[in-house]
Amino acid sequence: VQDAPPVRHYGGLKDQDRIFTNLYCRHDHGIKGAQARGDWHKTKEILLKGDNWIIQTMKDSGLRGRGGAGFPSGLKWSFMNKPGWENDKRPRYLVVNADEGEPGTCKDREIMRGDPHKLVEGCLVAGRAMNATAAYIYIRGEFYQEAAHVEQAIQEAYKAGLLGKNACGSGYAFDVYVHRGAGAYICGEETALIESLEGKQGKPRLKPPFPADVGLFGCPSTVANVETVAVAPTICRRGSAWFAGFGRERNQGTKLYCVSGHVNNPAVVEEEMSIPLRELLEKHCGGIRGGWDNLLGIIPGGSSVPVLPIKACGEVLMDYDSLKDAGSGLGTGAVIVMDKSTDIVAAIARLSHFYKHESCGQCTPCREGTTWLMRTMDRLVVGRAHHREIDMLLELTKQIEGRTICALGDAAAWPVQGLMRHFRPEVEARIDKFRAEHGPVLFGGQLKSEV
Ligand code: NAD
Ligand code: SF4
Repeated sequence: VQDAPPVRHYGGLKDQDRIFTNLYCRHDHGIKGAQARGDWHKTKEILLKGDNWIIQTMKDSGLRGRGGAGFPSGLKWSFMNKPGWENDKRPRYLVVNADEGEPGTCKDREIMRGDPHKLVEGCLVAGRAMNATAAYIYIRGEFYQEAAHVEQAIQEAYKAGLLGKNACGSGYAFDVYVHRGAGAYICGEETALIESLEGKQGKPRLKPPFPADVGLFGCPSTVANVETVAVAPTICRRGSAWFAGFGRERNQGTKLYCVSGHVNNPAVVEEEMSIPLRELLEKHCGGIRGGWDNLLGIIPGGSSVPVLPIKACGEVLMDYDSLKDAGSGLGTGAVIVMDKSTDIVAAIARLSHFYKHESCGQCTPCREGTTWLMRTMDRLVVGRAHHREIDMLLELTKQIEGRTICALGDAAAWPVQGLMRHFRPEVEARIDKFRAEHGPVLFGGQLKSEV
């Protein structure tokens, strides 16, 4: 891996290199179909290689957390194995975050529906790496069918001796449980998820302590995304160099992209990391409705990252670094495509409604700020605002960003910042139009004639 060139081939993943081979559930999702597709192959050997080997393999593979934050997985999985961990008698847990709620994101749903055994086997491998005794899979409440498929996979694995007191005959004891959420977006935040699993209200905790020190039921825990966990067995089987050979430095591996909005064929597709955005849209999604020139912009990584206008989309690669350099982020790999028929101000205002609705209300900047954002954005959609309110709105986003317990505050602020960075003239034109039709507007949206 160390000798690999910094820039490798990307785009055009071959079928034999796909990890997820039943994304659209066209084949048997049960254990027979899964084993025919290579799942549960030599799992015992992987387990017997031990925690350090699995963690080193993850580190060498370059895998970064696929839930949105992109934290290096091997490093994260090693946090529970600090020197002297054997003397800590608390149980240890893997918690799988299957509460996929980020708008535009629907990749974990496809894994659980079509390839649930990859997730269950991944729990065992990741759990072994962390020396955990059990995994809790927290599944979004709305995912009824997906939860049923995961439950079926767990039962089949127990029946086949792949889980339980002597998992895969390795002598390692491991259990897997499913817990279903109840539809709150904030329960996808790892500490809110832990609170919810413990039977409390899903409200994020302050970090540190990180879950690796004090997590579920006060015990060392690691919360990991479905896709991250589900790719682990294949990486162990095929080798870290194979996985690290896709993409480019710091952005390695294959990735599930979910493309929605104004493309001809919306899709969830596995591709190489760093595939050019344009290639992703044209090769797998039939291109933009009305052609590339009809593109207005994209939100490249789920709703929590800023929008990118067409001029920033031409050369961008679908990876952490390229999208960061372009002023946005890879997030969950969910690309929301908007063509020129989109009312971009209304689209971002809709997101402000979402974050206001989903705020748990613990922190003042988030609770009050998301309400202000929503109300001001609603007025900006029709132009009923004073010009200076644009800067006031941006100042408000700065007062939210980085001042809250969890990332929801940032997620509410960034789309508004992106809108003003790239589409400010559009917002100003609406204010001018409203003023021309109705007369001057004061701060707060009141008409001067009404005073
Ligand atoms: P984060 O960067 O705070 O943390 C990433 C992970 O690394 C966490 O598990 C954290 O515990 C761990 N970590 C970081 N530093 C650590 C340390 N020093 N010691 C021990 N562990 C450490 O990000 P986050 O709040 O977990 O996630 C935010 C992201 O989630 C956003 O970027 C957004 O894209 C994404 N998101 C995804 C969904 C979805 O449906 N998949 C929903 C909402 C948000
Ligand atoms: Fe709750 Fe918002 Fe604070 Fe997160 S940032 S803890 S959602 S109030």
